[in-house]
Amino acid sequence: MTQQLNIIIVPHTHWDREWYQTFQQFRLRLVHAIDKLLDILDRDPKFSNFMLDGQTIVLDDYLEVRPEQEERLKKHTRSGRIQVGPWYLQPDEFLVSGESLVRNLQIGLQRAADFAKPMRVGYVPDCFGHIAQLPQILRGFGIDSAVFWRGVGSEAHKSEFYWAAPGGTQVLVIHLADALGYSNARDLPLNLEEFVTRVELLSAPLLSKATTNTLLFMNGSDHLEPEDGLPETIEAANKLLAHIDPELEKVLTRFGRPEQNGQVSDFDQILVRMGTLPQYIEAVRQHLERSPGTPLQTLHGEMRSSEYAHLLPAVLSTRMWIKQKNTATEHLLERWVEPLTAWAWKTGAPYPKGLVRQAWKFLLQNHPHDSICGCSIDQVHRENSVRFAQSQQISEGVVAQAMQSLVSVIDTRAPTNVHKPPAGQEPFPLVIFNPAPGPRTEAVQAMTQLPGSLKNAVVVDERGSRMPFHVVSRWRQELGSMPVPREMLATAVALQGMKAPGEFINLAQSTLVSMLGLSESDYVITRINVEEGAQAGVVSVELMITRREQVTINQQELQASESQVLALMQREDINTLEFIIIDQARQTVDFIAADLPAYGLKTYWIYPGGLQDEGQSQPSTDSSTGQEQRAVSQPPSIENEFYTVVANREDGTLTVTDKQTGAVFTGLNRFVDGGDVGDLYTYCPPAHDTLISKPVEPPKIELVSTGPIRSIMRISGDWSLPTACSDTRTERSDYMTTCSIVSEISLTPGVHRVDIHTGVENDVKDHRLRVTFPVPYTVEHAEAEGTFEVRSRPIVAPRPADVSAWAEEPVNTFPQKRFVDVSNGAVGLGVLNRGLPEYEIVQDAQGQMAVAVTLLRCVEWLSRADLSTRRGHAGPMEFTPEAQCPGHQEFDYALVPHSADWEAEEALVLREAQAFNTPVRALATEQHEGQLPSRATLVEVEPRSLVVSAIKRSETGQGMIVRVYNPLSHAVEANLRPGFACTKAFVTNLHEEQQEQLFWSGVEDGSLSVGLRSGEIATILFQ
Ligand SMILES: [Zn+2]
Repeated sequence: MTQQLNIIIVPHTHWDREWYQTFQQFRLRLVHAIDKLLDILDRDPKFSNFMLDGQTIVLDDYLEVRPEQEERLKKHTRSGRIQVGPWYLQPDEFLVSGESLVRNLQIGLQRAADFAKPMRVGYVPDCFGHIAQLPQILRGFGIDSAVFWRGVGSEAHKSEFYWAAPGGTQVLVIHLADALGYSNARDLPLNLEEFVTRVELLSAPLLSKATTNTLLFMNGSDHLEPEDGLPETIEAANKLLAHIDPELEKVLTRFGRPEQNGQVSDFDQILVRMGTLPQYIEAVRQHLERSPGTPLQTLHGEMRSSEYAHLLPAVLSTRMWIKQKNTATEHLLERWVEPLTAWAWKTGAPYPKGLVRQAWKFLLQNHPHDSICGCSIDQVHRENSVRFAQSQQISEGVVAQAMQSLVSVIDTRAPTNVHKPPAGQEPFPLVIFNPAPGPRTEAVQAMTQLPGSLKNAVVVDERGSRMPFHVVSRWRQELGSMPVPREMLATAVALQGMKAPGEFINLAQSTLVSMLGLSESDYVITRINVEEGAQAGVVSVELMITRREQVTINQQELQASESQVLALMQREDINTLEFIIIDQARQTVDFIAADLPAYGLKTYWIYPGGLQDEGQSQPSTDSSTGQEQRAVSQPPSIENEFYTVVANREDGTLTVTDKQTGAVFTGLNRFVDGGDVGDLYTYCPPAHDTLISKPVEPPKIELVSTGPIRSIMRISGDWSLPTACSDTRTERSDYMTTCSIVSEISLTPGVHRVDIHTGVENDVKDHRLRVTFPVPYTVEHAEAEGTFEVRSRPIVAPRPADVSAWAEEPVNTFPQKRFVDVSNGAVGLGVLNRGLPEYEIVQDAQGQMAVAVTLLRCVEWLSRADLSTRRGHAGPMEFTPEAQCPGHQEFDYALVPHSADWEAEEALVLREAQAFNTPVRALATEQHEGQLPSRATLVEVEPRSLVVSAIKRSETGQGMIVRVYNPLSHAVEANLRPGFACTKAFVTNLHEEQQEQLFWSGVEDGSLSVGLRSGEIATILFQ
């Protein structure tokens, strides 16, 4: 049987928005490219279509400087000749959060709809590998296919296959199997003979992988413009290809002959046409429908093979600050901005829609694979830094407003049934916000302005439970000072004829308060303190002013001071009275906020003078800051009810004992520094590497604080590290530079984590610094948080017998989100992080295994061709010295030793990983009534092991969205109980379109049940 070989040419451009040039520099080229495209489309009706890289941001970038072209552009998008969407921009998949990918598609599809029917193809041509949940994310937007290049290895037998996500949803994948991927048909010759030859050459390798008789030619590449005249050449070529010569037929036959209905086909003619990706996918689907005998393979899991194309895995640790800032900004938007603005909106505040959208856009603009991966020129990443800052500035402002708005509607009146303050003293409410699962306990640091010494102060919650409390520091702010000659003042007082007590104070009050520009009716003088002797002839008079409603003034004491000042007027030995105005004392206080509700808030009350019913029997703890334990014989240690942490005097490593399981982990927090002669994409150790894993001499170990809120131990070491790599790049240099590494390890009562904050002075080059955590057992798998899942991976990546045949050496460094966990089934160690996405499970010569987390990878070339770990360049050879990340760097990570595996204890490790990334926030307020109770939750979700991924106002503004996913290995029944008014609930897709109404009484306390398969994401709309 003979048949026709069909070729669909998809003209496109791949637009890296910033990379080896900046955004603005590439935009100049973009404007030229789109101008040219519009000219061609206007002129040549046969130029049927062009794909704008699956991202709508190029439309915005173009129209921002060519607004006059909008209608012309829209004419061609509406007619279907320019394909737009579905993405806002082409993201990296592993380095951004699941919610970022969802927002990216939401914004992209919405923007594309302004121009045309969006292209619903999961087009991610250049992403450095693909996350396992991409199929479920795409299907959540009604997209049932994906087209990509990197990450696929020989486990895929054909270029078409089904790909199933955890949770079961699947998409049809078109793998761009040619070595050139999305550029396989770039720069097609317009000369007829050359064109025909190119078609023949390109067809053969694609045929060997093809399932159908239709092949995909991607006519475009990075920043390429459309090829004018291509339709004419295609038309002429088809005449020549209508009858292919027997020689070519033989070549094609050798490479592959698709089967149809059990019959093998030979090709006797080729038909080339210009088309779109959706048209190509439709052709594949039709072929599959016609040929039920050709079942496609179904693949599962993430795509991270470097067999056929560069995967470039070391971008996980290039310019680590970008990853850290990105993680912080994502948490700010997802855990603070969205839930709090939605909650405030539900309680009557206006919704800052435009600001929230803009904060997301600034963040997403750092998510293209060349931006978030850190593999661009230095100037590009300086601009990334500004975008992070802008996103954070908007977010912080919006969060502050939402918190104020919420606090104003909380009933903050102190529980009168529990405790009473001493007469005349009122408690001060402090509201703590928890954006993570609960119940949760954390140490809180807050700034207060409270009267009195706080010696007897106590903090209680709504049930009257007392919280450990500790004043870290107190200070007074001087608001102003004014020297006044004694004689002048005495004359003024005599003239005014002040006789009655309090008259002088009233005069001073109105003079000073208005001098400071404060409202006279709001502030009063609450204390006067006279001090002599510092300087001859000068007496200092300190006046404390306070907001009127915050104090009860001791009139007797104040009038006694007034008499004291008036007496000074008569003294000839005094020349000057120096009036100093201070405000009430401010304090930095620490306390334990226990039992914080999930995704909610809780009010605590500070009683500055203690409680009436308890007298002064339990004073708050004095500051122990700066105290060192003097027990010389004992090694320095800290502990709480869960863990004991002991520092090794010789090398500064830690031994952590899990009091619940008895498991002992030694040698933790060991830094290991090795050479790196790679580039921004790929790690490459020098041929002769030197690893340094000890400070030059035993480190300094201090107990910074021994409680009661935080126990903190500081370990400071000097590390002698090779200054750079040698000139030959084959080893590390003999010249050494001393770099300091300081870790602060802290434990808090009630908190199931060992928190570590590390500062590094990075004064050397060409190296990789990791922190390692050995475990007293061996494992074959490690579990790491991924996107909408927890992924189990073998500790060693599959490796071919002959690795030189691969495009890039496979590596054992893998991506993680907020934790990686290793467990032997009985006990385990979770290593949590804030924005440190690269881990490896390493094993030394003695077989000891350890979790290694990369802190820094310092190189200075965008791409090099001399790497032993990769074949060829991955980009232009640009010098990028800032990728050495010089100077002071800081890192946050934490340890959670536990029983069994990460799923045990209601997914303790995952819950702590979320808490660790979202420290609580505090806001002081006054007592008042309000619609919200003093302890409130936005939504309660059970079981606690489920992950609440988003709580936000719906995009249409008609309800609240709550998204949860099931990271466990088994199905669960989720129970959701919203803490806001609503009567109806719907399941929606990720685009927030209603799918089905859920049966739900909607009455108070009626929780909503939703069944979730392992790995399933569910989005619920409450109205
Ligand atoms: Zn790219």
